[in-house]
Amino acid sequence: MSSEQDQLHIVFLPFMAPGHMIPTMDMARLFATRKIKSTIVTTPANANYFAETIQIHSQKDGLEIDLLTIKFQYDDAGLPKGCENADSLTSPEMFSRFFKAIDLLQQPFADLLQKCQPNCLVADHFIHWANSVAIEFGIPCLTFHGSSYFSQCITYNLLQYEPHKNLLYDSDTFVVPGDLPHKIKFTKSELSPYDKKEGPNFLLELMDKVRDAVKACNGVIMNSYYELEPAYAGYYARVMGMKHWHIGPFSLYFNRGGDNEAFRRVKKSSVDVNECTRWLDEKEPDSVIYVCLGSMSNVSDAQLYEIAISLEALGQNFILVVRNEDTKEWVPQGFEARIEGRGLIIRGWAPQQIILDHRGVGGFVTHCGWNSILEGVVSGVPMVTWPFHAEQFYNEKLVTDVLKMGVPVGSKKWVPRVGSHNITIGNKEILNAMAKILIGEEAQDMKRRAKECKEMARLAISEGGSSYSHLSALIEELKAHKSRSMSLIK
Ligand code: UDP
Repeated sequence: MSSEQDQLHIVFLPFMAPGHMIPTMDMARLFATRKIKSTIVTTPANANYFAETIQIHSQKDGLEIDLLTIKFQYDDAGLPKGCENADSLTSPEMFSRFFKAIDLLQQPFADLLQKCQPNCLVADHFIHWANSVAIEFGIPCLTFHGSSYFSQCITYNLLQYEPHKNLLYDSDTFVVPGDLPHKIKFTKSELSPYDKKEGPNFLLELMDKVRDAVKACNGVIMNSYYELEPAYAGYYARVMGMKHWHIGPFSLYFNRGGDNEAFRRVKKSSVDVNECTRWLDEKEPDSVIYVCLGSMSNVSDAQLYEIAISLEALGQNFILVVRNEDTKEWVPQGFEARIEGRGLIIRGWAPQQIILDHRGVGGFVTHCGWNSILEGVVSGVPMVTWPFHAEQFYNEKLVTDVLKMGVPVGSKKWVPRVGSHNITIGNKEILNAMAKILIGEEAQDMKRRAKECKEMARLAISEGGSSYSHLSALIEELKAHKSRSMSLIK
């Protein structure tokens, strides 16, 4: 083991939302497996998840990961006490206050870096001030952009060429300009408002700051693997000119092999993980469809009702995850009795990765968050794509049009994460999409391609694979930077 002086020390600063904390925890662990001292910095209300996971893995694998906290000034930002995670924001006003509170973390974070003197900072792209703090300390700042190359190329070209400006109606379609490797079509309504430069001013300003910070940082870490989107990794490097390292899928390095006790994903599962796997054990391989629309999606009772009807009509085994633990409004009369034995409803938080990894699962209805897509890919399951917001409509196209391992449910309109909307997809469309990924020749083709992606992901992270090698190259570069700055100090 290298002496403390030689050891590289990286500080990780995640954005506080489940879909950002999960990959950051995995990433810190990944660096720790390469004998890098890893420190995660977060706020008190978010510390538990990291602390528990770190404890399990330091006991199990002897990994060296530290956790430090900085006070989240919710009072000064006008947020209620304990509101320290994006999943608890319920109005657009709360969003702007949340980002104000994140800005207030800059000075305390700089004070903390002064004490722990790391050699590199890896910060979530939403934390746009991270770069200036790193410059203050003369260390490199890498941005963690928890999405695909594909979606970043799409966003880049939409901002560059503004194709939506020539379109009159929301339902008008266009091909993304800029000579992308594939002909990718969207309707205007599928685009994120920020990519059309629409939306509340504070968010547009924030997105500008985020993009400027990414351009100015020393490089981008991608939770992806080369073989999944080779043409887009190439396009990204060529057109955007950013230094980048694809070192994922992070989730594949850990939490595999049925170690249910060691399984943690931000929240505690609302079901007993062992009971859930026993339920799956009794099912035929590939016979269960898993429906989970993310950690923060805006799904109405009316929509859940349509999903329930379609699952009943499908006649297959299923697991349905619903966020709100209390509401029963959406449950069709007599539904639970009729689906007994073949349907499992998880109210709250599901052990998603364990479920997807189970051989019983043969399909995944997903909201197209990047972590979920990757988890589906590395489990080798075809997907029904059901995007809502963020860059989910772009991820959808990667799955359906490029990887050809999924079919769209027919969601066509970007909706904000908070606040009401009147979009409901009917049960017939849902049923149709689910049947397409489970039954027939097309389903078999998708399954075959999904299994190929799964195998490629395993090769990518094994010694000599593309992700493994990119991680080695990144570490070498950081070590070289460290010795250069040490020699300057000497
Ligand atoms: N997740 C989970 N259980 C749930 C819902 C979500 O473990 O009931 C995990 C999921 O496996 C993924 C993350 O939460 O790792 C969600 O991230 P993603 O990027 O898919 O979407 P987001 O929720 O951030 O929109």
